[in-house]
Amino acid sequence: MDYVPSSDSPPSDTSPTSISPLSTSPLTAISPSSSSPSTPSLSRYESQKRRDWNTFGQYLRNHRPPLPLSRCSGAHVLEFLRYLDQFGKTKVHLHMCPFFGHPNPPAPCPCPLRQAWGSLDALVGRLRAAYEENGGKPENNPFGARAVRLYLREVRETQSKARGVSYEKKKRKKPPPTLQASTSHQLPPSSAS
Ligand SMILES: [Zn+2]
Repeated sequence: MDYVPSSDSPPSDTSPTSISPLSTSPLTAISPSSSSPSTPSLSRYESQKRRDWNTFGQYLRNHRPPLPLSRCSGAHVLEFLRYLDQFGKTKVHLHMCPFFGHPNPPAPCPCPLRQAWGSLDALVGRLRAAYEENGGKPENNPFGARAVRLYLREVRETQSKARGVSYEKKKRKKPPPTLQASTSHQLPPSSAS
């Protein structure tokens, strides 16, 4: 009945080469013996989508006043996206910043960190799909709202002008930054004292 790990490997679960917490997802480790995992990229997308949906659900539950999904509008989606900015890692220079438009600022500056446009755009796409998969009506889909599209366009223009640059100089060897990487462990606890 006890699960005994094979004795020829240390029982620690350190993963020396882990490059991102996502890589330890059980989904990628499942069924090594099954004939062919047809579309690994799909399952990755799917698991990401599920996580995004959970994050959004948690946001709704923590919302004051309470916000049922059925009452959720494009404006609330914008609220959510702005809320996520606090976890962002992309420097977006303000107009008055001397580094505005500077692709490689030589020094730090107090400009805010934001979610990169690409992350937000992909996130909204996943949540839009998840909304309908979870029973939402396409015509009510807040993630497809015009306000959301306009917001994303504005973010893209702002960031391309400001050359939002991450301070991590080197690109890491991992897929494009995802929201989960920055939010999964930083969500506010549901019952903050
Ligand atoms: Zn700046």
